[in-house]
Amino acid sequence: MTTVPTQLLIGGELRDAQSGATFATFDPAHGAELGSVAQAGAADVDVAVAAAREAFDGAWARTAPAKRSRMLNRLAQLIDEHTDELAELESRNNGKTKWQCVAEIKVAVATLELFAGAAQHLYGRSHVVNPAVVTYTLREPVGVVGAIIPWNYPFMMAAWKVAPALATGNTLVLKPATATPLTAIRLGELALEAGVPAGVLNVVPGPGAEVGEAMAAHPGIDKIAFTGETSTGRRIAETAAKTLKRVSLELGGKSPNIVFADADLDAAVIGSLWAIYYSAGQSCEARSRILVADEAYDAFASAFAEKAKALTIGDPLSDDTKVGSLISRAHAEKVRGFVKMGVEDGGELLAGDGLSLGDGLDADAFVAPTVIGGVSNDARICQEEVFGPVVTLTRFADEKEAIGIANDVRYGLAATVWTGDAARGHRVAQRIRSGAVGINTPFVAFPGVPFGGFKESGYGREQSIEALDLYTETKAILQGTSPKTVNPFGI
Ligand code: NAD
Repeated sequence: MTTVPTQLLIGGELRDAQSGATFATFDPAHGAELGSVAQAGAADVDVAVAAAREAFDGAWARTAPAKRSRMLNRLAQLIDEHTDELAELESRNNGKTKWQCVAEIKVAVATLELFAGAAQHLYGRSHVVNPAVVTYTLREPVGVVGAIIPWNYPFMMAAWKVAPALATGNTLVLKPATATPLTAIRLGELALEAGVPAGVLNVVPGPGAEVGEAMAAHPGIDKIAFTGETSTGRRIAETAAKTLKRVSLELGGKSPNIVFADADLDAAVIGSLWAIYYSAGQSCEARSRILVADEAYDAFASAFAEKAKALTIGDPLSDDTKVGSLISRAHAEKVRGFVKMGVEDGGELLAGDGLSLGDGLDADAFVAPTVIGGVSNDARICQEEVFGPVVTLTRFADEKEAIGIANDVRYGLAATVWTGDAARGHRVAQRIRSGAVGINTPFVAFPGVPFGGFKESGYGREQSIEALDLYTETKAILQGTSPKTVNPFGI
């Protein structure tokens, strides 16, 4: 077992919390404590913000883009070299399968490489306003960024924020989710090893209600980059409004997966399994509502339920496991509550009522891949984010109805359309109110492709060139070019 990091990282130093407080962090799949981590408080946030400000006002914001780019590439390389260690730590702390953690660490590497390149292509524009004034714009860093991230993709979510923020010359205070503090601390350590100066990336694990709140309210933080639940994002936006800091929000989802009768049904079944059961359904972009054309419903439902039952559930460290544990017993209990609610609201349980696990695992933290058929889209289970391995099947009669049901939720993060008709695929994709739509593919997030939400799924786009807008201010420089004295008062 790899060493468990246990301290805060502030100003380039590993430290205990000022209060001396610690909290236990767990391996949910085995129901075991993994270690005890320093628990930051508001006083530690103050010190971390001061360290980040000092680093920002020092050389960092003015470091040559090529140098920042080299550091990001070096960090990417170090992460790549530590993939096995990081993936094991992530898998143990989160309960998701190690092979999925490996894939996510590779995405983090690709994200750092993407923004290492972008650092050298941060362009402004020039404009001749009239013969007497020429202007150009500069993209300057926003300043100190407070990054608050969730537990479902701990390392990858940290990289999604750290990479564009550093590429554009910002410094950061990073708060990992309380349940998964470990790999964020390692990311901070590796950044130092890569040559990122002390104070540029600070890591403060601790409870959202204290550390996250302190960050959202802090006058020394210029921007909050948040990923998490819609209700938390709303609260952060309200708090941040008091200091008018910039805010970007990547929030929850209730994404549709539309299967038309003309689709390749085998491909749709396999792709739809991935779209919901990856990460045990604990994905913001989980396509948790499958909408199926009337003509294809019975064939799709039976093939999908059969395959869902065949997914191996078990030890996250085993390569054979397809679905690991959930983040905690408490969360698994909440997910079981949703399943009960779905059945009470008229759904039929097509898969998910049996769970057999090997020794040493905490069965209370697992939920079997669950399929609830015949649910109306206004049922609570179709409107609320379950965040577990639970999917509903709802029928539709025609394209118009499919689009109507797909859009009939308060979220708008992602969608997938399965069809053999290319024109229909694009037509439907244009009508869906969400930040990303896959046509005949379950994948909706790649480094380089904008990722973010419509509606209550938030605002801002990560993972792409658009993310540079989230971390920069545009400054206009105006130069008078007339040889004559400019005399607007005419005196
Ligand atoms: P959460 O909102 O409970 O917590 C997210 C982070 O916010 C954690 O670090 C938490 O400690 C902190 N926090 C909690 N209360 C806070 C407060 N009052 N002020 C400031 N910070 C606070 O979310 P979670 O349960 O960790 O993650 C799951 C959620 O994240 C789901 O809704 C999921 O859809 C969403 N998510 C969205 C994306 C996306 O890109 N859109 C990606 C991953 C996860």
